[in-house]
Amino acid sequence: MTDELFREDASLRECSATVLALDEGGVILDRTVFYPLGGGQAGDAGWLTLADGRGVAIADARKSKAHPGAVLHLPGPGVDLSPLVPGTLVSAAIDWQRRHRHMRFHTSTHLLCALVPHPVDGCSITVDYARLDFHMTEPLDKEALTAGITRLVAEAHAVRHRWISEAELDANPGLVRSMSVQPPRGLGRVRVLEIEGVDLQPCGGTHVANTAEIGAVIVTKIEKKSAMTRRVVLGFAA
Ligand SMILES: [Zn+2]
Repeated sequence: MTDELFREDASLRECSATVLALDEGGVILDRTVFYPLGGGQAGDAGWLTLADGRGVAIADARKSKAHPGAVLHLPGPGVDLSPLVPGTLVSAAIDWQRRHRHMRFHTSTHLLCALVPHPVDGCSITVDYARLDFHMTEPLDKEALTAGITRLVAEAHAVRHRWISEAELDANPGLVRSMSVQPPRGLGRVRVLEIEGVDLQPCGGTHVANTAEIGAVIVTKIEKKSAMTRRVVLGFAA
């Protein structure tokens, strides 16, 4: 219902769009650059701007429950949505600083998957930190993991997505790294994210185009969440 432009090009910051509906407390557009919360990655914030220059602040984006396939743009507290009647043309622009931090962290979590060869059973990517829970019992070394990420960033690996058939995915069960987030089924195709020479796994999230774009990311904390879970927390170096 909403054309998700970020799935093909995560570097898009702005697009023109038409309001389809106001529902569930938010705005549904025919197309968008706003990533809705999903796969552990936080939703985008930003602005919708009308032709007359009026702006509507958007605090978060979510997948609509009432309209499958639609992205819901949720306003900040007290924001008036009444100018956005269906049919209104808007410019939809994301808070790029915030999104780019999500992208840098998201690609970092995939690097971490390559460094820690254990199933993932939880993931959260926010503007200030990212965390990944691994299903494992062995201890992890904070400095060694930071050094591993730093090396993969410095090696400047290309990052790209492609679509594979569900049959192809079924033939390669090793591709699914996450126990908690299974790739969406029933669409006939699954999006996979490849970090050239490093990692390949199904993912619908937004990523940088090259690991060099990640910059300085460090492991800030390793926690033993349970007998079978090790949590790794990532942050940006000061
Ligand atoms: Zn991912």
